[in-house]
Amino acid sequence: MSSKISNVESDRFFDGDVAFLSKDGMLFKVKSFNLEFTSTGFPPSAVKSDEDAATPIPLEEDSKTLDIVFSFAYPDLPLPDMNSLSFEDLLKVAIAADKFGMQHGLEMTFGHFYKFVMTHPNEIFAIAVKQDSAALIAAVAPYLVSLSVKELCSAGISNRLAVKWSIFREEWIFALLAGQKDLGRHDGCLFWRETIKPRLHKRLFTTTGIAVISVQGYQIGDQPTVQSIWAEALELLQGERAIGIACCVAELEHWAHCTLHGLALVQFPV
Ligand SMILES: [Zn+2]
Repeated sequence: MSSKISNVESDRFFDGDVAFLSKDGMLFKVKSFNLEFTSTGFPPSAVKSDEDAATPIPLEEDSKTLDIVFSFAYPDLPLPDMNSLSFEDLLKVAIAADKFGMQHGLEMTFGHFYKFVMTHPNEIFAIAVKQDSAALIAAVAPYLVSLSVKELCSAGISNRLAVKWSIFREEWIFALLAGQKDLGRHDGCLFWRETIKPRLHKRLFTTTGIAVISVQGYQIGDQPTVQSIWAEALELLQGERAIGIACCVAELEHWAHCTLHGLALVQFPV
């Protein structure tokens, strides 16, 4: 059975000596010379100039992805607008650039991932681990700080990034502990001692140690944050005693402010 030849031809890649057919049927004629010098992963036959350009090599990628990926091989052509790509489309470009061994192009896609760290931290983490990218790991670290170094190693992170992660996570934990050091100073207040502090302890510690808590804006799903724990304790205060207990409110605020101030200073090591 002959392969389906598309009658839709790229208007940017039409004069090369090797032809590719996208998954959605667009024909790209690309100069093998350009591919040879900008990639390592195209099918070997693709970069032989004596191949018949009329027999296109089918690729799994769609035309939108290939239009960008082939642009990486043409430094004199303007890149298509990558700013407007959805996360899913950007991911397809990154996967294709990686597959075709276009490191320069791959790194260009990294720059566009930052705006998606809030919505897709786990996926970006996976890319960062695979590509050993310290910059991408740094961007997702505040979202995934609850992951232990052991969990990161299971995900295949490099030793280099595992060390950086442990420093970051350790400093995060130190900041949480610094915020908690004054929790006992208001023990003279019965309501604090018997109601508020035990509730905080329940949130701030696990059976095995300290809970590595996130902060608002960086939580994944309904993970507790310093702010949500603070709000929960305030609610408890207001619920129990309609005329608020100002001393306990002030103590809660002290804990939250100290903790948030400390966490704001924690940076992923470069
Ligand atoms: Zn009190």
